[in-house]
Amino acid sequence: MSISIATKGGNKFQKHIVTQTANWCLGQLMPRIKKIYIDIHLRNIKEADGYCSCDSVDDEDFVGRSPRSFTLEIDKSLSLTEMVSTTIHEMVHVKQYAFCELRDVSAKANGWKSQLVPCEVKYEDQPWEKEAYRLQEKLLMKCLAEAVFQTEVDKNGFAHTRV
Ligand SMILES: [Zn+2]
Repeated sequence: MSISIATKGGNKFQKHIVTQTANWCLGQLMPRIKKIYIDIHLRNIKEADGYCSCDSVDDEDFVGRSPRSFTLEIDKSLSLTEMVSTTIHEMVHVKQYAFCELRDVSAKANGWKSQLVPCEVKYEDQPWEKEAYRLQEKLLMKCLAEAVFQTEVDKNGFAHTRV
């Protein structure tokens, strides 16, 4: 059982911010989870502020049916508060997958709790997006007030949370 958040791309300051924000979100949103792997890439994204993909494939990427391996992408041109708030948003999606609230079901629909939500539903009406936007607003100031921005960068330039 282990928790790993590894961040690459962006500058050292941005790596610290997103790594510690993601770590704070784990404690806030999924405090009982003991095993999760999150890779974060800071890069230039034009069409969105960020993405969350659930890339759990092998048995070791799951605990029961709960997926535990994820990749987040965060736009490195965002301002400080946008970067924190986007990281919180993407971590809400991690929580939704890990709690089996959001599931990739087929090319036509997503599973959301006990329902199927067709892919035609507009982005802003998707219930997982509504929750992510609500929580990113709710948690932004709390994160800025509470998160401890202390991270180590290894010789390969990856930021890791201090254990
Ligand atoms: Zn989203």
